[in-house]
Amino acid sequence: MNIHEYQGKELLAKYGVGIPAGIAALTVEEAVAAAKQLPGPLYVVKAQIHAGGRGKGKFKELPADAKGGVRLAKSIEEVEAFAKEMLGNTLVTIQTGEAGKQVNRLYVTDGVDIDKEYYLSMLVDRKTGRVAMIVSTEGGMDIEEVAHNTPEKIATITIDPAEGFQAHHGRAVAFALKLSGDLNKQAQKLAKQLYTAFIAMDCDMVEINPLVQSKGGELLVLDTKMSFDSNALARHPDIFALRDETEEDPAEIEASKYDLAYIKLDGDIGCMVNGAGLAMATMDIIKLNGMFPANFLDVGGGANKEKVTAAFKIILADPAVKGILVNIFGGIMKCDIIAEGIVAAAKEVNLSVPLVVRLEGTNVQQGKDILANSGLAIVPANDLGDAAKKIVAEVQAVA
Ligand code: GDP
Ligand code: MG
Repeated sequence: MNIHEYQGKELLAKYGVGIPAGIAALTVEEAVAAAKQLPGPLYVVKAQIHAGGRGKGKFKELPADAKGGVRLAKSIEEVEAFAKEMLGNTLVTIQTGEAGKQVNRLYVTDGVDIDKEYYLSMLVDRKTGRVAMIVSTEGGMDIEEVAHNTPEKIATITIDPAEGFQAHHGRAVAFALKLSGDLNKQAQKLAKQLYTAFIAMDCDMVEINPLVQSKGGELLVLDTKMSFDSNALARHPDIFALRDETEEDPAEIEASKYDLAYIKLDGDIGCMVNGAGLAMATMDIIKLNGMFPANFLDVGGGANKEKVTAAFKIILADPAVKGILVNIFGGIMKCDIIAEGIVAAAKEVNLSVPLVVRLEGTNVQQGKDILANSGLAIVPANDLGDAAKKIVAEVQAVA
């Protein structure tokens, strides 16, 4: 689960991390009122969307030379003008895709006089099984470019979970940022605070870009992106309450209501599979046959008719889907029950694209009979390879 910048900063502040003062706003009036509470004379008006690259982003509704989703304002009047330009409009950044995201919230912050920008992020590194702290002196800009062109400017410090954060980790971070004197001490302290916050809140990822050194000699978090391990959210109702469904894919929200693991992808073949491993294998074999999956969808081991119907509806609601591949292993759930679910769902949703079904497992013959006698144009398949070949052939025949 992702959260907004202002929410992330408020959470980090509880761990002592230095952030510029700021207030979230939903309307122009609130933005003006927020600015009046800040010291000024420099303010920053920031679009709150779950995507980075806002500064370099463009608003669809504004002229091409208009500024993006992070604006420096030198007066309350400018704060008002910028809030008017941003609220309700669609911001397109390198991370939003072409459709962009509508800006419904702003964050008005105290403007910082920046001396230097740094990069610091933390994530769970699956290779080492540790939290990795990734730091660079080259903050503020595209970190991917830095990683690609000058990888030596990025340092990775990993922390053994059994050992926990030690003083030497803090020194390594401060050293990598080439800081000395008091700033070096601040960086050590910040690294420790961030690690503590990361573990305590079960984060997946925390990215601070930029971390800045202000003209006043303070190390401040100017921007943050945070995401949390969904499996741990039950332990953090306060964090779960920060979820903003308007930022999420509507199909993924619908899927979560039925406990379906669904992720939208860019291809043409809708997939309905039980079990994450089988779902991955199904996606692989579609690619092997020259097409791409439109989604990852795991209906789970205990899928019933209701779940299968919901899954079908979600797949078909995606206009990109040109064909559906159902690949189910009947173990806990018997094949005949699954087949009944597929037939009922296909009738209910008025199936308009080719459908290939591969069933295997308990009561497979009964299941196949139900599909064959359904009167629907369902193409049966014998195994995974056969199923993938058939759906690709069906879709290409229509095209
Ligand atoms: P992003 O574009 O979505 O990553 O948004 P950021 O919050 O990182 O802001 C983009 C850029 O705006 C930063 O890299 C800074 O250069 C600039 N910026 C943001 N806040 C301030 C501020 O308080 N003072 C100044 N001078 N620049 C800022
Ligand atoms: Mg940023």
